[in-house]
Amino acid sequence: MIPSKFKNVAIVGSGMAGVACARTLLQAGHSVHVFEKSHTLGGRMATRNSAFGSFDHGAQYFTVRDPRFERALQTVPGLCKRWSANSVQVLDEYGQVAAAGLPAREAHWVPTPSMNALVKRWGQPLLEQGRLDLQTKVKHLDRDALHPHQWELHTEGASGTRHVYSGFDAVLLAIPAEPARLLLNTSPLADHLSQQLDMVQMAPCWTLMLAFPQAMQPGLSTLGPQWNAARSTHHRIAWLARESSKPGRTAVERWTVQASAAWSQEHLEDDAQRVQAKLLKAFSEITGIRAEPAHVDSRRWRFAQTTQPLGHSHLWDAQTGLGVCGDWCLGHRVEDAFVSGLELALTVA
Ligand SMILES: Cc1cc2nc3c(=O)[nH]c(=O)nc-3n(C[C@H](O)[C@H](O)[C@H](O)COP(=O)(O)OP(=O)(O)OC[C@H]3O[C@@H](n4cnc5c(N)ncnc54)[C@H](O)[C@@H]3O)c2cc1C
Repeated sequence: MIPSKFKNVAIVGSGMAGVACARTLLQAGHSVHVFEKSHTLGGRMATRNSAFGSFDHGAQYFTVRDPRFERALQTVPGLCKRWSANSVQVLDEYGQVAAAGLPAREAHWVPTPSMNALVKRWGQPLLEQGRLDLQTKVKHLDRDALHPHQWELHTEGASGTRHVYSGFDAVLLAIPAEPARLLLNTSPLADHLSQQLDMVQMAPCWTLMLAFPQAMQPGLSTLGPQWNAARSTHHRIAWLARESSKPGRTAVERWTVQASAAWSQEHLEDDAQRVQAKLLKAFSEITGIRAEPAHVDSRRWRFAQTTQPLGHSHLWDAQTGLGVCGDWCLGHRVEDAFVSGLELALTVA
């Protein structure tokens, strides 16, 4: 029997933390409604499609250390596969190996056919039951006008349509720390929660996506280096991965390139064309691939990776019925997001 006090729960955000939280509360018998501003689920476990195949332009892979995450993954057998990114090398500015390759300490897992497939699968029942609204950005939190112990959410849809959803006993924010702080600031009752988020820091990341279908010509299997992924010491680039080497992806040679946090911060407001040109040049220097890509795309993540976490798995105020979760509570990984969402749900339930 669930405590009636928190029967109807609103969750803001359908990334790993939000969906982990929602499925746990549903299993415990709560009524859950998830609001997501994007057109799809997954958050930073993101996938962008192109004519040449998909790109995991957020998280590249995940690791599994917590037995609860391992058990949850057993509910979707075969969906996630090991990626042999074990040839990872650390490269200097000129593409030379700057340090020994990382040992294959733990498995690198990727959902198939794309990074967002895991959260989409877990979120499917929410969609089917009409418990998840996509393209619905929560702009404002307020006490319910009719029932002052409950919450109402003011939202804006893709075409600017505004709605008010009411009757929630609890509101759980599963979004990055800075947007969470701003949203909490829309309600005077959330001051003390919002203040605790001040110390959290997250770095941005510009991501470049490249496709080279010419590598499919007879006699050529790949362009450039023989490794599948690399951490780089180039001042512009921190990480490169051959998308086409991941299990369950199409074979067209595709690369995802992540700029370093410092460079991304410095060029945060630059226009995408300029960023693409600079990152493409650095990519050529590191990989030796001089061919013109047939496809170039980029994505700016304002809040990509936590540099200063909260240090607790979540925050929850039972008096007001407000809570927050997300990877940034514990760290910067997919698994941190799962654990944070799970533990907030267990606390509320
Ligand atoms: C470039 C990059 C590379 C990464 N590489 C790795 C990696 O290799 N391995 C790894 O483990 N992790 C990696 N990460 C981190 C990983 O992606 C995150 O830890 C994890 O996905 C965070 O999940 P989350 O649910 O906490 O937040 P998010 O995934 O950010 O989900 C938040 C959701 O809330 C929605 N939202 C925000 N505001 C609102 C609002 N007002 N109303 C409604 N919806 C809203 C967003 O659209 C989003 O869907 C990477 C991240 C990035 C960006």
